[in-house]
Formats: sequence, C-alpha cells, structure tokens
Amino acid sequence: MGGAVKYLAVGFLAVALAAMAFWEAGVAAEGRLPVFDTHVHYSQEAWQPFSPGAILDKLTAAGVARALVSSTPDDGTLKLYRADRERIVPILRPYRDRADMDRWFRDRGVIDYVAGRLGRGVYRGIGEFHLLYESEARTPEIRRLIRMAVARDIVLHVHSGARPVRALFAIEPKLKVLWAHAGMAAPPGMIRRLLESYPLLWTEVSFRADDIAPDGRLDPAWRKLFLDHPDRFMVGTDTYVNARWDIYRGLVEEHRRWLAQLPRKVAKAIAHGNAVKLFGAGRGTGLGD
Ligand SMILES: [Zn+2]
Repeated sequence: MGGAVKYLAVGFLAVALAAMAFWEAGVAAEGRLPVFDTHVHYSQEAWQPFSPGAILDKLTAAGVARALVSSTPDDGTLKLYRADRERIVPILRPYRDRADMDRWFRDRGVIDYVAGRLGRGVYRGIGEFHLLYESEARTPEIRRLIRMAVARDIVLHVHSGARPVRALFAIEPKLKVLWAHAGMAAPPGMIRRLLESYPLLWTEVSFRADDIAPDGRLDPAWRKLFLDHPDRFMVGTDTYVNARWDIYRGLVEEHRRWLAQLPRKVAKAIAHGNAVKLFGAGRGTGLGD
C-alpha cells in the first residue's frame, strides 16, 4: 500500500469509527428498547435447570420488562407468577401434559380443567394452544372455550394457520385472538388480509425474525405491514425447549435488530406498547412510566 493511499485509508477508517461512535452514542441515549415478551413457556423440563429466580434474571438481563407465560403443565406458569406478580402475565395452557396436545380440542375433560383453573382469576388468556385444521376449531369443546374467553374478556393465544383463525372468528366475532408466530409460515399478504378482516386479532412474531429480516435487513413487505398496522404486532421468544432458555438474550436481541430499522414510535409499540394496551403494564416494570 502506497503512502498516500494508506493515509486516505486511515482517514476513511477514522471517519467510519467516528460515525459508529456517534451512532452508538445515539442508541445509548435512547436506551435499550424494553421488551414485553408475549411468548414464554416455563414447562416441566425447565423447572430443574432454571429456578423461577434464574428465569427472572434471564428476563432482566435481556431487558424484558414483562412476559406472557404459559406452560405444560400450568403449574410452571404459577411458579413464575408467584415469584413476580407484576412482571409475569399468566396465560392458561389447556395441556395438563404433552399427551393432551393431540386431541385436547375434543376432550371435555380438558375444557372442564380449563374452566376450573380459570376460577383462580389470575389468567389473562387461554393458550398457547395448537389447532391444525379448521375442523378442530369447530368442536363443541372449542365453542365452550370461546364462550369462557369472551365472558372473562381474555384472549386466546392460538398457534395455527389462517384457516382456524377464520373459523374461530366465524363462531364469535367478539373474541380476542393473539395469533402465535403470525401463523408461522404465513406470508405478509396473508397476515395483512387477516388483520384487515378481524379488528380483534393481534399477532406475535416469535420465530419469524428470519422472515422479517433476512440477513438482518428488514424485508420491504414486512416493513409496510408494520407501518400500516403498527398497533397489531408484538414480539416473543417461545421458550418451548430448554435450549431456547440458553440463548434467551440472543432471541430478544434478534427482534431488537429489526425493530431498530423502524421508526422509534412503531418499534416501541411492537416491542411493548401493544402488549401493554392488551395486558397492562404491571407496577414497577418501567412500562407504565
Ligand atoms: Zn410456544
């Protein structure tokens, strides 16, 4: 490398470093975006390796101010809730054990169990549960579940494709649905059609960071969707296996990276504001200030 070129290169590097320092100072001044994680599980296999205190520490380290938690079995959720009633928002999972997952929507015993647990009065939703087909959303058991949710004004946190969501709203338009993973495989156009059809539908985008920002850059169709419907999206991590707890902080940061590419107001709404509107801020979490 010749002298002049070297000088230029050093100069360029200095400018680049100064720009980076400025950018980082800007980010620091704004502070780390607080996150309301709307998809957390504290299921049985996590209880031994991670105490409730250890889980709360993980939330703190990741800058997660509040979390919607559902677990198999539900006792996991209550353990966490007892450890911090302001940060943990309990969602009642219908699965008493993993075996319930296959046919819970046709099992009267499951719905009786849900009705009994709801009597505790702490739950802000029922879920996260899975519906593979429309027919699974139309059983007498699910109709009863819908009536319970509407009577208590709590959400259903549903992992499904678009069709079961449509089936649920066809039964009861007054129902509130939080659509897990925004349908997991649903493209932005399909998510848009659903959001525009059902005013009481919200989505959380756990597991979708790679679709939203392939190679780290926010996809234009997703950006437009967020800007057109900034009040309908939330973020989540989905700690369905212990390996997800091991990388918990990284899962939250994955969302912050694409959120940082949106206008600050929209990013705040998606990171926590929309969930606060639906589930409250909790005292002393920093979200209510
Ligand atoms: Zn899940």
